[in-house]
Amino acid sequence: MSDRRSTCEVAIVGAGPAGLAAACVLAGKGVDVVVLDEQQTPGGQVFRGIEKVNATRPSDLNPLGASYGAGIELVRRFRESGAYYRPGTSVWEITSDQEPELALGLVENGATQMLYPRHIILATGAMERPTPFLGWTLPGVMTVGAAQTLLKSSGLLPGNDVVLAGTGPLLYLYANQLIGMGITPQAILDTRPSATWGTYLSGLNALLACPGAVIQGSRWMHDAKRQVEATSHVTNLRAKGDDRLRSVSYQSAGRLYDMATALLLVHDGVISNTWLSMSAGLTHHFDSLQGCWVPDIRGVGITSRESISMVGDSVGIAGAEVAMLQGERVAHEVLGQLNDIGGAQPLPEPAALKRQRRLRRFLDRYFPPTSQFQLPVDDDTIVCRCEEVTAGEIRSVAARGCMGPNQAKAFTRCGMGPCMGRKCAATVSQLMAQVHDMSVGDIGHYRIRPPLRPITVGQLADMPIRHGPSDGAPAAATIYDTLAPGENPNR
Ligand SMILES: Cc1cc2nc3c(=O)[nH]c(=O)nc-3n(C[C@H](O)[C@H](O)[C@H](O)COP(=O)(O)OP(=O)(O)OC[C@H]3O[C@@H](n4cnc5c(N)ncnc54)[C@H](O)[C@@H]3O)c2cc1C
Repeated sequence: MSDRRSTCEVAIVGAGPAGLAAACVLAGKGVDVVVLDEQQTPGGQVFRGIEKVNATRPSDLNPLGASYGAGIELVRRFRESGAYYRPGTSVWEITSDQEPELALGLVENGATQMLYPRHIILATGAMERPTPFLGWTLPGVMTVGAAQTLLKSSGLLPGNDVVLAGTGPLLYLYANQLIGMGITPQAILDTRPSATWGTYLSGLNALLACPGAVIQGSRWMHDAKRQVEATSHVTNLRAKGDDRLRSVSYQSAGRLYDMATALLLVHDGVISNTWLSMSAGLTHHFDSLQGCWVPDIRGVGITSRESISMVGDSVGIAGAEVAMLQGERVAHEVLGQLNDIGGAQPLPEPAALKRQRRLRRFLDRYFPPTSQFQLPVDDDTIVCRCEEVTAGEIRSVAARGCMGPNQAKAFTRCGMGPCMGRKCAATVSQLMAQVHDMSVGDIGHYRIRPPLRPITVGQLADMPIRHGPSDGAPAAATIYDTLAPGENPNR
């Protein structure tokens, strides 16, 4: 028998800044709230491993940056909030709105279970934008985000021959974190196009709104370029080698270059993680400025299913500060919904939120998605890493009349591997839109179906069956509720 509760008032998926801020407010108001996250400790992407770093590697806090250290206070408040925290728990399903009950499918320590909340808040954050180019599947090519994860969680650093390629704030933040820890990358190959006057004007607006953030970002770029050999307007990036990465070739100002390296880290910004929200049947639209799909939201975080709210980077990339502010606001909105007062008490929008929006408008324009990764020119570029489907195959099936990404799955098996399309969905939709001369919004996205995480037939078969409201008993009478609300073994 599971020792885990199977009911609660609010389930929050994601223990990043958005989910933690929401949990603190809800638990503070006495709501029975459960926070689920597949990471082992709270903090999400931005504050990943913060408690461990603070306790065991405090000297790393300085090079990781003040904005990282700021997470300690939020995580401490969360630990003391009384919210029930279930780390190491992946959510692989949200039942559809056709089902009689709202439920989440969980897998924890290899065991599956359903959790039946009254309300769900999805705070699933962001993931890195796919960066397909020739050779990107070779061992020795990784994303900057993956390397930063290793740095935060285990203190792992690359060697000095590491090359950083692509663009975006995270690339420059990571370069500075490395330099602060004594590693000087061999090169930065920046793929960002020249900024327009309109972008600089928007930069001025951002500077007036959030001077600290703009100055800090400029300093990251300036310091990294001062200490690392940096090349701008890089095109035709290729990773070369037979069994593993040996060198990187690229073009800049009309000349071709080749650079020996054993590790290439690539980054092209982050996009909203909408896998759970899409699988739950929520409506979404394509945000052409951020180049990603986002859920339709009204109020602070109300989605097309009233019992599911969303917040943080999963509703559009906005950063950790906005995630925290909105996390608190969405919690108040949910309180209104739970008490059936129709969201009548939304917190007013703080001035800080309006200022952050002006900053984001600039960042979206200054770091647009890199066109060579969005639409790989070379047909031999692998797009779907799991099933090894190339850009040429996608273009070819589109030219033969395949009208969308879901049909392309049947033609090529793209998006049908273990990552379930996370690494290719954006590219496949872009390529098909290009061939059909349509917008990505009209071409559509893979239909996302549970299970979102690989689970076995045995795990499904062993899942405890609920004895709850659907068969007449009250919700609290589930036979798996062995812990009282508020009793939290993970604190
Ligand atoms: C790889 C990466 C590194 C980043 N590094 C930085 C940085 O150093 N500095 C910075 O300012 N910003 C960084 N960002 C951006 C940053 O993530 C966001 O601005 C901020 O953390 C958003 O907060 P959030 O609460 O919305 O989501 P997140 O902090 O991303 O938290 C989302 C949480 O949801 C969990 N989750 C998602 N799906 C599931 C599921 N199915 N089941 C269970 N749990 C799930 C994840 O494990 C994660 O902990 C990074 C983004 C990425 C993708």
